[in-house]
Amino acid sequence: MAVLTLIKKDPALDICIDSNYNDNDYYFYQRRDMRTTKQRTVILEQLMTHKDHPGADIIYEEVRQILPRISLGTVYRNLELLSEAGTILKLEQGGGQKRFDPNTHPHGHFRCLTCGKIEDLPERILVPQLADSDEWLSSRKVCGINLEYTGYCLECSGWE
Ligand SMILES: [Zn+2]
Ligand SMILES: [Zn+2]
Repeated sequence: MAVLTLIKKDPALDICIDSNYNDNDYYFYQRRDMRTTKQRTVILEQLMTHKDHPGADIIYEEVRQILPRISLGTVYRNLELLSEAGTILKLEQGGGQKRFDPNTHPHGHFRCLTCGKIEDLPERILVPQLADSDEWLSSRKVCGINLEYTGYCLECSGWE
């Protein structure tokens, strides 16, 4: 399926960021045993039109226009599977609704405390990279980074 061509590599299931990872090695991977279904492809394509980190309910409402018989549970399960496979990111906030992100490149987020919107940080705000030399990090298996700023977005801050 066309949309899955962004997965360039198919290394071991448990590939994670190691201490000297580079972008080309680690963010494209997929579980070997993951089949592509029509539903999954539509769900992924729909998510990829978003920059606002939607929850499963939003994707469900959109996918339903294309696949009227799909259930919220199916959409949710597929989003979970895609995130387990590393094709998309799952953003979990304590107690909050899970959000999904088609951008698996390391990047940080800004979450609005009023409206709950999650925006990507501009690229010029660098996400910390792992230091090769750090003994503490290199003795662990780091699978991701969660850099989140919180505050009030442009619409909610009243500074317009
Ligand atoms: Zn806001
Ligand atoms: Zn993001």
